[in-house]
Amino acid sequence: MNDKHVYFFGKDNAEGHKDMKDLLGGKGANLAEMAGIGLPVPPGFTVSTDVCNLFVESGNNIPSGVENEIHFNMKKLENLTGQNFGSEENPLLVSVRSGAKFSMPGMMDTVLNLGLNDKTIKELAAKGSGKRFALDCYRRLIQMFSDVVLEISKKKFEDILKTIKAGNNIVNDFDLSEKNLEELISEYKALVKSESGHGFPQDVQEQLLLAISAVFKSWNNPRAITYRRLNLIPDDLGTAVNVQQMVFGNFGERSATGVGFTRNPASGIKELYGEFLINAQGEDVVAGVRTPMPLNVLEEKMPEAYKELAEITTELEKHYRDIQDFEFTIQEETLFMLQTRSGKRTGQAAVKIAVDLVEEGLTSKEEALMLVEPEALNQLLHPVFDVEDKAKLDVLARGLAASPGAAAGQVVFTADEAVAWSKDGKKVILVREETSPDDIHGMSASQGILTATGGITSHAAVVGRQMGTPCVVGCSEIRLNEEKKMFTAGNVEIKEGEWISIDGTSGDVHGGQIATQPSEIIQVIEGKIKPQESMIYQDFNKLLQWADQIKRLKVRSNTDTPEDANMALAFGAEGVGLARTEHMFFERERLPFIKEMILAETEEERRSALSHLLPFQKEDFYGLFKAMEGYPVTIRTLDPPLHEFLPRKEDLMVELAVLKSSHSDQKEKIQELEKLLERVKTLSEFNPMLGHRGCRLGVSYPEIIEMQATAIFEAVCELAKEGVKVYPEIMIPLVGIKQELTNQKKIILCVAEKVMNKHKVKIDYLIGTMIEIPRAAITADEIAEEADFFSFGTNDLTQTVYGLSRDDGAGFLAHYLAHGIWKDNPFETVDIEGVGELMKMAVQKGRATKPHLKVGICGVHGGDPRSIYFCHEIGLDYVSCSAYQVPIARLAAAQITLREKKASEQPD
Ligand code: ADP
Ligand code: MG
Ligand code: MG
Repeated sequence: MNDKHVYFFGKDNAEGHKDMKDLLGGKGANLAEMAGIGLPVPPGFTVSTDVCNLFVESGNNIPSGVENEIHFNMKKLENLTGQNFGSEENPLLVSVRSGAKFSMPGMMDTVLNLGLNDKTIKELAAKGSGKRFALDCYRRLIQMFSDVVLEISKKKFEDILKTIKAGNNIVNDFDLSEKNLEELISEYKALVKSESGHGFPQDVQEQLLLAISAVFKSWNNPRAITYRRLNLIPDDLGTAVNVQQMVFGNFGERSATGVGFTRNPASGIKELYGEFLINAQGEDVVAGVRTPMPLNVLEEKMPEAYKELAEITTELEKHYRDIQDFEFTIQEETLFMLQTRSGKRTGQAAVKIAVDLVEEGLTSKEEALMLVEPEALNQLLHPVFDVEDKAKLDVLARGLAASPGAAAGQVVFTADEAVAWSKDGKKVILVREETSPDDIHGMSASQGILTATGGITSHAAVVGRQMGTPCVVGCSEIRLNEEKKMFTAGNVEIKEGEWISIDGTSGDVHGGQIATQPSEIIQVIEGKIKPQESMIYQDFNKLLQWADQIKRLKVRSNTDTPEDANMALAFGAEGVGLARTEHMFFERERLPFIKEMILAETEEERRSALSHLLPFQKEDFYGLFKAMEGYPVTIRTLDPPLHEFLPRKEDLMVELAVLKSSHSDQKEKIQELEKLLERVKTLSEFNPMLGHRGCRLGVSYPEIIEMQATAIFEAVCELAKEGVKVYPEIMIPLVGIKQELTNQKKIILCVAEKVMNKHKVKIDYLIGTMIEIPRAAITADEIAEEADFFSFGTNDLTQTVYGLSRDDGAGFLAHYLAHGIWKDNPFETVDIEGVGELMKMAVQKGRATKPHLKVGICGVHGGDPRSIYFCHEIGLDYVSCSAYQVPIARLAAAQITLREKKASEQPD
C-alpha cells in the first residue's frame, strides 16, 4: 500500500491524472486530469480509495497519518485560494464529494458549503453577494450535512421547507426571502438538536472530518451494496473523497448550474445535450425540484459562458476520445467545470457514437469496439411499438424521451410492488413522482419507468438508459396520488394494475397495451426494410464487421430450422454449433410416429416406426445444411429421455378414468390408453436429468441412431450431388466413457459408408462428442482418441459438477444469489473456478492426444460475454449461441482479443 493518501489538484497543477481511477476514483482522477490540462476547475484534493479500506478495517476511523495529510492539503488549498477554512475574515467553503472507480449515480452523497457556521456566515453575507445568498448556502449545508452525516431523515427538513413555502405562498426555493430563510435555518437547527441531541456542529474541522467519514461509511450503505451487486462491482474497491473549493451557482441571476452530454446519450446524435438552472446549486438540476431548461437556452442567456462550455466540452471529448457527461457551475458568468466522465448511453447511442467517433477521426476502430458493451447490442433488437396499433390508442400524456424502447405493463407505484408483481410473472411499469437510488431494485424489475418530474439527466433517466429499460421522465401532465394508488392524465384516471404503454423513443404515454413489432434491425434482417435505408443497421453492421476482423473465436449459432439458420447467418453466424434433432420430433405430424417408436415392444416394431420418421428427419437436415451452405453444421443425436415425448402420467390417468365412467363401450380406446399409461409408468424416472438419455438411448436403441445418421447422410449426399458445399459434424451427447462414443461412432461410420456408396459421393465429416459429464472432462485424453471434436455442454456440465438440477433449484437458488453465496448464477455465466477448471483440463487433455482437436461450446454460456472471454482464454475454437446473441458474441470475442493484445504490449 502507498504512503501517500491525499492528492492535490488545482489549475495547471495536479498530482493525479485520469488513469488513476483505482486510487482517486473516477471523479477525482478526472478532476485532476481536467485541472492538469488547464481547464477551469475549482482546486481541491482527493483522499484516496485506500483510505476507505483503512477506514473500514479500523472500525470507521480515519488513521491519524491520513488526518495530518488532510490538514496539510487544506493549508495548501487555503494558500492557493487566499481564503481560510473557518476564518471570519475570508472563509473558505468546500464541498465534500464521494467518487468510486466506477460511477454509481446518486449512490453516495455530497455535502456542499462546508465551512459555514454562525460566524463565517456573517462574512459571507457581508461580501458583495448579500445575505440572502449566504443564508441559502447555510440552509443547504444544514440539510445535506444532517442527511448524509447525522442521518436525520431528509423528509423532515423537506416538510419544514414545504410548510414555510406554503405559509408564504412561495412556489420556488429561490423566492424565499431573507426572513423566510432565517426562520428556516432556525427551525432546521432546532430539528438537528432534537434529533441528534447536539446543535449543528460549529467547528469546521469537525464538520470536515465527519463529512469525510460519512462518505466512507456510505460505501457500505444498503443501496450502494445493491448497486454493486447489480453491476458486478467488487466490494473492496472503496470510494475516494474529494474536497473542493466551492463555486456558487446560486449567486444570483448571472449564476447557474447544469449538467450535460457532448452527444445525445439516448440516440447518439452529435449535439450539446443537457439542462441547467439559473440561480441554483448542486443537485437542484437532477433532483427534479424545479424543471430545468435545455442547454440551448443558456446560449441565449449567457452567450459567452455557453460558448466556453461548448469549446471545453468539445476539447474534453477529443481528449478522452469518448462521449462525456459533464457537470458545470457558472458563478457570475464565469464557467467552472466540476466533473466529467464517459457518458452512460443506450445501446443505440453506443453503436452510433462508436462508429461516428471513428468516422470523425477521433478514435481508432480498436478503441471504438471497446466503447460498446456487448450486452447493450440486445437493446437494438428489442421490439418497438406496432405503428398501427399505436395509432389506435390516444396519447394520454407526453413526457421526455429518456431511454428508448417500447414497454407495456401494469401500473405500480412503488419499487417494492414492482418487485413483488414481477415475481408473480406480471409485467409492470413503475410510475413515480421521481426515482431515487432506493428504487433501484424496482426499476430493474420493471418493463418501463415513468416519472412526473425530472429531466433527461434525472436519476430515472440515467438509470433507465444504463439498464436499457424504456423510460419517460418529466411527464408533468400526469398527477400522482400514491395514497389512492392512481394517477390522472387530463380527465383519465389510471389505477394500480391497469395497463399502460410507454414509448421511450418519443416520450408518449398511452393507456392500454400496445402490440409490439420487431426492431428496425430485425426488420432489415427479415428483408422488410432495405439495409441502405436504415442508418442504425448500417452502423451496427459496420461495428460488427470491424469486430470480425479482430476476433479469434468463431461464432456459431444454436439453430434447428432453416428459418433460424437464415436469421443466424444474417446476424453473422459462421456455422451451427448445435442442432437439436429432438426439436424436430415435437411437430404435430411427427408425434404419432414418435409415440409409435417409443411404445414399440420389439426392435422390429421400432424400426417400422423409425422408417416413417426418416423422411421427415432427412428433409429437416436437407433444409438446414442447404441454408448453411459452406459452413459447418453440428447435429446432435437424440438427447432427452423418451418420456418427454409422451403425455404426463397424471393426465393419462384422468383421461382414462373419464373414459371408463362415461364411454365404457370404447373398449379399444381404453385398451390403447391403458397400454400407453403402462409404458409411461415404466419410462418414468426419479431423476430424469441423470436417467436414460443422451447416448445412453443410442446405446440401448442403436436403430434410432442408425435412422438419424441415415437421414443426415442421405441429406448431405443429395446436396453434394447438387453442388452444395456441406460440412457435417455429428455430435454424441452425454458421453462419460470412451466406450460409449466408440459404440455410437461404429453405427454412424457404418451408415455413412453405406449411404455414400449408394450415392457414389464422398464427403468429409466429423464425429465428436459433447463434454457435459465430469467424467468426460477428466478422461478427455482417452475420449479424444475417438473424437474429432469436443463441444462443451455447459448447462449439463454445470448441473453435474454442482450435482444440482437447474429446474428443481429455481426456488432456492434465488436465495443463494440474494445472500451472496453465489456471486453469479453459474447457469448464466461459467463458474470459472469449478466448471471452468474442468473445461480447461478437458481442453489440455484432449489436445495432448490430438493437438489440433477442435473445441467449442454450445451451452447457454456461449452467448454470455464473460464466459466468452473465458472460452477465448482457454483456447476454444468457437462459441455457439442463439441467433440473437451472435452479435453480442462477435463483439465480445473481438474485445477479449483486443484486451489480450493490450496486455501483451504492456511491460510489467
Ligand atoms: P454526484 O456523484 O452525486 O454527482 P457530485 O459530487 O458530483 O455528486 O456533486 C453533486 C453536485 O454538487 C455537482 O454536480 C455540483 O453541481 C455540486 N458541487 C459539487 N462540488 C461543488 C463545488 N466545489 N462547487 C460548486 N458546486 C459543487
Ligand atoms: Mg456529479
Ligand atoms: Mg446436455
